[in-house]
Amino acid sequence: MGASFNSLAKLCQVLEVTSKRNEKTRLIADYLKSLEVNEMAPVVLLLIGQVFPEFDSRTLEIGWSTMKRVLTSAKQTTLLKQELTIKRVYQTLNDIAQIQGNKARRQKERLLVALINDSTSTEVEVLLKIIFGEMRIGVNEGVLIEALSVASDIPLNLVRRALMLTGNIGEVALISLTQGEVGLKGITAEIFVPLKPMLAEIADSPEGILKEHDGKTVFEYKFDGARVQIHRLGDEVRIYSRRLTDVTESIPDIVNLVKENLPKSGIIVEGEITATGSTGKPLPFQDLMRRFTRTNQVEKIAEIIPLKLHLFDLLYYNGRLLIDESYETRWNLLKEIMPTHLLAERTITDNLNDVNKFLDAAINAGHEGLMAKRLDSMYSPGARGKDWLKLKPADTLDLVIIAADWGSGRRKGWLSNYHLAASDDDDFKIIGKTFKGLTDDEFRWMTKRLQSLKVSETSYTVTVKPEIVVEVAFNEIQKSSKYHSGFALRFARIKRIRLDKSPKDANTLNQVRDKFKKQFKMKDEI
Ligand code: AMP
Repeated sequence: MGASFNSLAKLCQVLEVTSKRNEKTRLIADYLKSLEVNEMAPVVLLLIGQVFPEFDSRTLEIGWSTMKRVLTSAKQTTLLKQELTIKRVYQTLNDIAQIQGNKARRQKERLLVALINDSTSTEVEVLLKIIFGEMRIGVNEGVLIEALSVASDIPLNLVRRALMLTGNIGEVALISLTQGEVGLKGITAEIFVPLKPMLAEIADSPEGILKEHDGKTVFEYKFDGARVQIHRLGDEVRIYSRRLTDVTESIPDIVNLVKENLPKSGIIVEGEITATGSTGKPLPFQDLMRRFTRTNQVEKIAEIIPLKLHLFDLLYYNGRLLIDESYETRWNLLKEIMPTHLLAERTITDNLNDVNKFLDAAINAGHEGLMAKRLDSMYSPGARGKDWLKLKPADTLDLVIIAADWGSGRRKGWLSNYHLAASDDDDFKIIGKTFKGLTDDEFRWMTKRLQSLKVSETSYTVTVKPEIVVEVAFNEIQKSSKYHSGFALRFARIKRIRLDKSPKDANTLNQVRDKFKKQFKMKDEI
């Protein structure tokens, strides 16, 4: 019959009140070892509030109103309960995801009512958490990987690597627990299963980058776009976002481009997609996102917001996974296969002047800055490290703090989310909020200072006299209806507290507007 759903629900309850990570790990490891083979993958997914692996586009499509109806009608029938098993719950959730068509809602409700009728109150609680994908039991993939390593006595690195390659924690659990180290070592990338993208750390200067990369490295434009991983085998093309969701349907123009240019023999490439205006310069990020979120009338919007592909990596080719090859090798192969106009702009150099010129060129072309990649580095899926470094010359504004929210978690007890405003005649208008950039000592100082400037408060927010000026770095000014000012900063973080400046010295909303327009000198506008 298999494990009861109640045993999983109870585990979740215990995990919720267990704060020590290694204790959580042990609890999960013990539980996993007690399971039947076909329960292992479902359990690890359910523990992180997922029914399907990250890259799987299936969803339950159950909203709150549906769930409320289900809970009300389920209460009325408390006849004989049949003990719920993990297998039944998981199968039912799978069945729910399959249901489509105009009677879908009713059918889903029927299946859910049947489940709830057989559930205890603890089980209902856990079921709801799973259905809405919010477990709140302090278990994430990191904890699960550790638990799998403990349960199967396999080195942590090996389990992590398997997850990066498959992107499927359920599959990794099954293989670790049933086939051990040998099984995990046999895992390789598969076409149409996206790998987690390798990420970059922030660098503060070109000098720092050259030093970190032993004097010479490759610099590429850091395109102001969206990361994509493109898989092709035969006539089938699938394109995945940085978060591994399948975005193929929203970008048919890129699919066509890929069909014309990528070999059919099985290939995975990575790159960045930018939206381009009529002058060939990139459009703001906001416009690009309109392409990725659109699923109807895609062709029409493709005409207004055309896309450009900038490839920079080759992860799989002709049946061979290339992530353990050096970047130099991967790029050289990519260059042989792909036409130059689809490749990222890059330069290999050991010369600071060249780097600065290249950085200027990237900014003038409307991009964010540069990426630097060690030529001898392997591709580490999902890892953020110093093999890839990003350099962004951020712009700054001097803004006034006019209110602050109390922090939670590590920032509990501190006023730490600051409402940042530009001056506008004798008023101040918010253009962003941030909790980024200050040290702990500065948070403490700021909390005290803001309380002394308090003019009113709610349980969450303290409004203050506009007095403190901060220098705020940001990546882009966006048009926004969120604030009355009409603008919002993207990626705002405080660089310095400007005690030397008074609110009179703060940037004005007119200056913000000018900067916003200037962005389009480098960028295009539709
Ligand atoms: P960030 O989002 O600031 O952590 O920077 C990493 C992101 O930069 C990647 O996920 C890509 O979307 C993007 N990017 C732009 N140009 C490149 C490039 N040449 N190589 C790698 N990533 C790039």
